[in-house]
Amino acid sequence: MSRAGDFYAVLGVRRDASEADIKKAYRKLAMEYHPDRNNGDKTAEERFKEITEAYEVLRDPEKRALYDRYGEAGLRGGTGGGAYGFSHFDLSEALNIFMRDFGGLGGFDAFFGGGERTRRERHRGQDVKVTLKLTLGEVATGATKTVRVRTLERCTACGGTGAQAGTRATTCGTCGGSGEVRRAARSMFGQFVSVSPCPACAGEGTVIQHPCSKCAGDGRVRSEKTMQIDVPAGVADHHYLTMRGQGVPGPRNGPPGDLIAVLEIAEDPRFERHGDDIVYDLPISFSQAALGAELEVPTPHGNTTLKIQPGTQTGMVYRIRGKGLPRVGEGGRGDFHVRVHVWTPTKLTSEQRALFEQLASVESDPPAEEHIGRKFWDQLRQALGR
Ligand SMILES: [Zn+2]
Ligand SMILES: [Zn+2]
Repeated sequence: MSRAGDFYAVLGVRRDASEADIKKAYRKLAMEYHPDRNNGDKTAEERFKEITEAYEVLRDPEKRALYDRYGEAGLRGGTGGGAYGFSHFDLSEALNIFMRDFGGLGGFDAFFGGGERTRRERHRGQDVKVTLKLTLGEVATGATKTVRVRTLERCTACGGTGAQAGTRATTCGTCGGSGEVRRAARSMFGQFVSVSPCPACAGEGTVIQHPCSKCAGDGRVRSEKTMQIDVPAGVADHHYLTMRGQGVPGPRNGPPGDLIAVLEIAEDPRFERHGDDIVYDLPISFSQAALGAELEVPTPHGNTTLKIQPGTQTGMVYRIRGKGLPRVGEGGRGDFHVRVHVWTPTKLTSEQRALFEQLASVESDPPAEEHIGRKFWDQLRQALGR
């Protein structure tokens, strides 16, 4: 199998690699191919997306098991991809995953030292991660969720600068404002220049002589914020939404981090979800199966009426088009499948018993060649388009 088609080969790990091995291998590659490290090089960007996609699957035992059994097709399932599916895995999604699990390039960059970008990175506030719990009904319609987050806000006493009102930060005398110190050093490979953050100003380039008394020079104070998050319809478990700039503001007026909402969808015991499609099990009686009936069935969009045809067998699947879940980013909706079970009564009243006995005396034997069991799975598979 080519590297592109095999997530294990993409990360350079064995098929029996542990979760820790996978994480380690990914981190190493991500540090190498991260777009911030490669000046927008498209090949590196593609590679970064590729390794992140592989990582996102292999780090999750459930997805990994699916992938091991069915390959990539197993992951797509009935979802049909979409903005959140794997078929349209984009760069921002890859960057988010990296940020979520490794918190960005952060300390690693400081090690390499220097650069305007590094200082900006250091001044960037943290991301705020929240978990949003959703019901299947909310997935069906989309929802606006309210969350309360503990965060920081700009200090009003100093306007976020960190310097006591009426004073200003001054240029660091040690590094002359660059925030880094360079040292020539010798090694067996020859002379090289080592760059490290300035110890006098911790890489800031400026020194605050009189720190603001309210925020102790940080430029931020603790706060709690109530936020509203719009969740689009059709999302799936473990999807996440990123709200740029809605995280913690950076120290001393640095740029804010992002708010990352991880979605947790509660299972609905009535429904089985297969991507955008939903399967519902409906028990019906002998007479409803034989005579046909009109029955109410629940869907995530509310109740709907289903017409049961006369002569319905156990295992027959009725498809109600467009009553499944919305397809994220594609428009339209999946289907709702009703899997019928003919229910055998376990207790009979004397009247029912008499009627059944009468029926038994006139009914014909079921045909011997009908493979009900196999038909059941065939039908379901067909209904789900597999
Ligand atoms: Zn302050
Ligand atoms: Zn300095």
